[in-house]
Amino acid sequence: MEFENTRAFAQVLDTNDPIRSYREKFHLPQIHGPGTIYFCGHSLGLQPKSAQTYLLEELKGWATLGVEGHFHSNKRPWFYYHRFSKEALAGLVGGQPQEVVSMNGLTTNLHLMMFSFYRPIGKRSKIIVEAGAFPSDQYAFESQIRYRGLDPDQCLIELAPRQGEYLLHTEDILNTIGTHGDELALILLGGVQYYTGQFFDLGAITEAGHAVGAQVGFDLAHAIGNVPLQLHQDGVDFAVWCSYKYLNSGPGGPGGIFVHERHGQNQELPRLAGWWGYKEEDRFQMKKGFVPMEGADGWQLSNVNILSSAAHLASLEIFAEVGVSALRTKSEQLTIYLEHIINEINQDGENIKIITPNKKVARGCMLSLLFHNMDKEVFDRVTASGAIVDWREPNVMRVAPVPLYNTFEEVFDFGQMLQKSLEK
Ligand SMILES: *Cc1c(COP(=O)(O)O)cnc(C)c1O
Repeated sequence: MEFENTRAFAQVLDTNDPIRSYREKFHLPQIHGPGTIYFCGHSLGLQPKSAQTYLLEELKGWATLGVEGHFHSNKRPWFYYHRFSKEALAGLVGGQPQEVVSMNGLTTNLHLMMFSFYRPIGKRSKIIVEAGAFPSDQYAFESQIRYRGLDPDQCLIELAPRQGEYLLHTEDILNTIGTHGDELALILLGGVQYYTGQFFDLGAITEAGHAVGAQVGFDLAHAIGNVPLQLHQDGVDFAVWCSYKYLNSGPGGPGGIFVHERHGQNQELPRLAGWWGYKEEDRFQMKKGFVPMEGADGWQLSNVNILSSAAHLASLEIFAEVGVSALRTKSEQLTIYLEHIINEINQDGENIKIITPNKKVARGCMLSLLFHNMDKEVFDRVTASGAIVDWREPNVMRVAPVPLYNTFEEVFDFGQMLQKSLEK
């Protein structure tokens, strides 16, 4: 399709958008007045209007039933709460319901998964990670390695882009895996890189990791709800995520895990256990000796945070209704349109470089714009003109038009704002 950088053209795209009505289901922040453009769903997704109803239902259950709400709360008894998100989460990550569970926060889950799946033995002690991984992940990697009495400098193999480049070549990732073969205990990468927006080839990486005898896990913070995933089919060992970014569960909303079916019954795996992972039927017998639930549920520690999980369910219901494939179709279009407009206002290529891959299979909705010869002032001007995006030091603006609630016209408007901000 030939794209045009005009409002009329953007409006036509909106009119033809089969899922445009979903925007109505969200509260749109008007921080800079009406017309504020929110392109920050990669950081904190917007509030579904239905979240309030879900939360009020739980508050009412608590008010009227007290502890009885665990089993007798009207719609969703708290004792079984982890079940209610399973279908939707399984759909989003391409797993089976017993392979996923919503719990804790992302970093906690990363520790729990590394405790089980990072098992250094002799020379097989190394972990392949991204150079410049999200800081929380880096701290988790280092502390997990130290806890085993090992040295992070020796054990972490960081994948860095080639000289002068910003992205990783799949070929280089696979070569690194091959080179370190029998020294590798684990490969642990983002699904979508948080800084560049690069969507890695999870299937190829998993296959290569397994071929050399390593475990393979992914941090899906920027992938879940953004790109289609097929963790079960790809044979991924485990994954973790948070739900407050593309999944719109609200600030600090619950994280989640995926544990492949083949590990779900394995009682030999070391794990940090808690009572909520104990066999459900006998949990309240309060017996000695941990007997895990089957599947991912067996990694649960604590009883569910009902209030934030209620908001999570409100949003998951919307995702289940729209479906991954309709979302992805619109997402690709929105991002291609954004890319087109940025390239048009940056024809001499002097100011902006889009470092996110230009192939749609290798990215989600977010574009990372690297600014040459400019500092954070351009971001401040864009913000003042009414667009909410974010800035990552030293010089990257991350811009995410989210298919559930953003429009093509907003992409057009953002282009206008960016252009004016560059001129000043
Ligand atoms: C957002 C994000 C986190 C945040 O971790 P929390 O434990 O949810 O605070 C961690 N890792 C990555 C890659 C992220 O993008």
